[in-house]
Amino acid sequence: MQSTTLSAGDPIEARCTKCRKNTDHIIITVVEEAPVKVQCSCCNRQHKFRPPTAAKKPAARQASQPRDAERKEWERLRPSMNSEKAKSYSMTDAYKVNNLIDHPVFGLGLVQRLAGSQKVEVLFEGGKKTMRCK
Ligand SMILES: [Zn+2]
Repeated sequence: MQSTTLSAGDPIEARCTKCRKNTDHIIITVVEEAPVKVQCSCCNRQHKFRPPTAAKKPAARQASQPRDAERKEWERLRPSMNSEKAKSYSMTDAYKVNNLIDHPVFGLGLVQRLAGSQKVEVLFEGGKKTMRCK
């Protein structure tokens, strides 16, 4: 495996909020092989590293529309969900599989999977979302 270790002074493409586009940057600070602080070579402003944004648009469009499979799953499971047992969602709470949560934006949701540390995958009417938790 070839590892290209980033270091201060290396060029990198990043998002600049002042230029409002992806521009060439020079890395100022690297922590654990990830760029943290960069300097824009257009406006010379130093700021936090933000990944270039170009590839993000299609994903955002998909996220707003639940996939058919998730919609069907929701319709199948919805009758077994007792919304009176749902707890208000809080990212400082801990959740278990099959917990019901009540989210201020997404509504009723069923915890389906623990997705790594401090994350749970929740099925909402609008599709699956990964939520932060304790
Ligand atoms: Zn800039």
